[in-house]
Amino acid sequence: MICVLTGGTGGAKFVDGLRRAVPEEQLTVIVNTGDDSSWWGLSISPDIDSIIYMLSGAISTERGWGVRGDTFHCLQTMKKLGEPAWFSIGDRDLAMHLLRTQLLLKGNTLSEATHEIANRFGVRSRVLPMSNQPVRTIIETPAGELSFEEYFVKRRYQDQVISVRFEGAPNAKPAPGVLDVIASAEAVLIAPSNPVTSIGPILAVPGIREALTSTSAMVVAVSPIVGENAVSGPAANLMAAQRLEVSIRGIATAYADFLDVLLAHTSDADAALEIRSDRLQTHCTNILMNTIEDRARLARTALSVSCREASTVGAAEGQ
Ligand code: GDP
Repeated sequence: MICVLTGGTGGAKFVDGLRRAVPEEQLTVIVNTGDDSSWWGLSISPDIDSIIYMLSGAISTERGWGVRGDTFHCLQTMKKLGEPAWFSIGDRDLAMHLLRTQLLLKGNTLSEATHEIANRFGVRSRVLPMSNQPVRTIIETPAGELSFEEYFVKRRYQDQVISVRFEGAPNAKPAPGVLDVIASAEAVLIAPSNPVTSIGPILAVPGIREALTSTSAMVVAVSPIVGENAVSGPAANLMAAQRLEVSIRGIATAYADFLDVLLAHTSDADAALEIRSDRLQTHCTNILMNTIEDRARLARTALSVSCREASTVGAAEGQ
């Protein structure tokens, strides 16, 4: 079984590659829930939603989130009625949130609700929230403390970031299955997700970091950073706020205690050579997922370096 830790954008594209590279039932996806929130009284889990939409083939490829071909009549009506409308929920997407909210109100845990929803969407991979207890990513800015969605969606990540914390993490437990999956996986992959606000909350749940350190599987991360920039989104600002260098070196530092192989872009070949050590291998390839083929090829490369020690820096594939 292959295990992947992920957020919802870069991570979902990588998960799409994995589902094309291995039989779906052999894939377990451990998902960030630090962005979860309540919206119009509904329980929203943005990263779990993106992963389920991606694995079921329903995702909107143009937007990278939500459901393909969705409409936004409910959102427009709520806006007319004076309700907040900065978080875009499509009409078809609404079904996901209504179902999750119902399942949680009936007393199911988030794991149980996620399992049920994934099944009903026909997803054959296992989708696990990182924890059943609420963990909330809080971004401290000069304008005050913001939830991740307020920072990212409402304010379009324009605020200066002073610090990031994960409320509830110290008392959270890994969701059932998470530690076992990490311990027994043939390979553990860290998707090219935001290391601070997507992988960070997962690592903040007590026990998960330790499981990554002690698993006998190779742990392979794909960098979300190329050169000194994030491929997209606010990862660079968030890394700087956490005193991480915005580079593959910063990614290696964030995962230093458990990372075996870092996949970096070919343009980072010099930096990759510099950070190689007895403990960390690096492998350079095209890590940009512009097409479906890119996603599948990157997933296959990550799987192949998880089976052997990467030995060829700059031995790019598919370029
Ligand atoms: P979120 O939950 O929506 O924040 O999504 P993720 O954390 O899973 O993904 C965001 C990260 O994906 C950003 O830091 C980007 O730099 C990274 N990313 C987006 N597209 C690509 C890509 O094609 N290749 C790589 N290597 N990283 C990407």
